[in-house]
Amino acid sequence: MTETFTAVVIDQVDGKPKGMFRQLALTDLPDHDVLVEVAYSTLNYKDGLAFTGAGRIARRTPLVAGADLAGTVVQSRSPDWKPGDRVVVNGFGMTETEGGGYTRFQKVKPEWLMRLPDGFSLEQAMAIGTAGYTAALCVLALEDWGAIQPNAGEVVVTGAAGGVGSIAVSLLSSLGYRVTASTGRPETHAYLSSLGASGFIDRASLADKGGALQKERWAGAVDTVGSTTLANVIAQTVYGGAVATCGLAGGADLPATVMPFILRGVTLLGIDSVMTPMAKRVRAWDYLDKHLNRDHLAAMTSVEPMSNLPALADAILAGKTRGRVVIDVT
Ligand code: NDP
Repeated sequence: MTETFTAVVIDQVDGKPKGMFRQLALTDLPDHDVLVEVAYSTLNYKDGLAFTGAGRIARRTPLVAGADLAGTVVQSRSPDWKPGDRVVVNGFGMTETEGGGYTRFQKVKPEWLMRLPDGFSLEQAMAIGTAGYTAALCVLALEDWGAIQPNAGEVVVTGAAGGVGSIAVSLLSSLGYRVTASTGRPETHAYLSSLGASGFIDRASLADKGGALQKERWAGAVDTVGSTTLANVIAQTVYGGAVATCGLAGGADLPATVMPFILRGVTLLGIDSVMTPMAKRVRAWDYLDKHLNRDHLAAMTSVEPMSNLPALADAILAGKTRGRVVIDVT
């Protein structure tokens, strides 16, 4: 086994957390029960925040970064896992309090691991990553609530050209929903149409504070942006509709009123991917296995070497990456 390997570590520089490349040995890894040889990780918005230090994501340092990993079990002290098992880990504190996926090897707790469905390669698993599995959690939440049914009403996806947004657009369109994509980048319209979006709304039109109750438009929504965008989406949701909220790319505030909730029975569904129980994760991944169009997934994904992370972290925070970025850690 490789004696030392390159990892991206968040450490303090002038009192601020920042990502940097370091050589690690297996003895540097935590004493968790399962050793995984990582094949790929991925770039999520949170990874951009952690790498640059723009958000206080890493709550202890030094810490290996990367919110996701996909790879193969090499050694296990747990009866649940054996060498050769293909596994994926999303979240569970990776890059916050636990070492993450920007490394050739990582040790993890057995209960964090999920068996990768046979229908996905390790690269596809990270093309999905936390962003894609969160998109699936959002769609499942809307369906479980009963707010949306195929061919009944429009579903809006905000931050549509981003990672969560792209997978949400693809998934919803494949399921037969009429999807409107909210994006600030008109140059992505052809791309979003190819994923199944049938309408567009300029993100600027959702950015300014609007009325408490606006013209009813959306049967459901997947919001990755937060702030005034989310407030406007809620105010435009039809009677009995629901909004799944998962992101804060536009801000963490919510300048809304209770009016849509108490006069239109609108529901706000909160989505957290990090500590989601395993049964729900397995359901979301099985749902992706069943419904995610693999051609769409390939079209929205680029694969980048770990050495490009400094530029990629800046790009995702500036809203300049499109779709999903897989990080090849080999
Ligand atoms: P991306 O950067 O890939 O996508 C975010 C998109 O939001 C951008 O592509 C852009 O879309 C839009 N956007 C960016 N900046 C702004 C802005 N200032 N105002 C309005 N829109 C903006 O990130 P991800 O898809 O990885 O993540 C999206 C969000 O979801 C993040 O906030 C992330 O933290 C959150 N998230 C939460 C999870 C959870 O567990 N709750 C899990 C995963 C992600 P466009 O160019 O189309 O307008």
